[in-house]
Amino acid sequence: MDPSKRGVYPGRFQPIHWGHVKVIEWALQRLSELVIVVGSAQESHTLSNPFTAGERIEMIAAALEDAGIDKSRVWIVPLSDIYMNAVWVRYLAMNVPRFRYAIARNPLVVRLFREAGYEILMPPPFERERFSSTNIRKLMLMGSSEWRNMVPPSVARIIDDIKGVERLREIAGRD
Ligand code: NAD
Repeated sequence: MDPSKRGVYPGRFQPIHWGHVKVIEWALQRLSELVIVVGSAQESHTLSNPFTAGERIEMIAAALEDAGIDKSRVWIVPLSDIYMNAVWVRYLAMNVPRFRYAIARNPLVVRLFREAGYEILMPPPFERERFSSTNIRKLMLMGSSEWRNMVPPSVARIIDDIKGVERLREIAGRD
């Protein structure tokens, strides 16, 4: 495929929700291929990053399936963080197929790609207050099942399978 029509979409996807899915659809309307970068791959079992990179990859693949997105146009690549923001984009580029565009709204991510000379495609916010992983994790901690309306059904099934809510609530406990 032509790398000049390929974009990268970095995120933590903790977990992937309908807002992320809308961003992916939006990007694929403009590009021929998308590389979804599962950032902070080293993180799991924390309040901000409860799910492992492997679990997040499964959830992303399931979300693409639910949304009827052509998976042959999408790569999913896990990437651990590094301590040097200034060279992060070079490090990311070393680990993913060649690309021209970066899809992001996260201000730090936008800044770093711009400084590195990549073109930014900034998606609109898709119900940003509601469709937010922070909001989803908060609802899970509160014991509300409302989070289920914010993720594709197969993602909710995987979270049930791995007892994700139980994990989050347990690590939020006191000793
Ligand atoms: P995230 O999953 O919260 O969001 C991913 C992207 O989707 C963001 O650009 C966000 O603005 C966008 N988004 C989310 N919900 C949306 C909605 N409803 N509508 C429209 N857009 C929406 O992930 P994140 O925290 O932004 O991920 C950035 C990743 O890059 C992290 O893993 C971070 O550690 C990594 N990073 C690492 C370094 C380093 O290692 N030095 C530097 C910069 C970034």
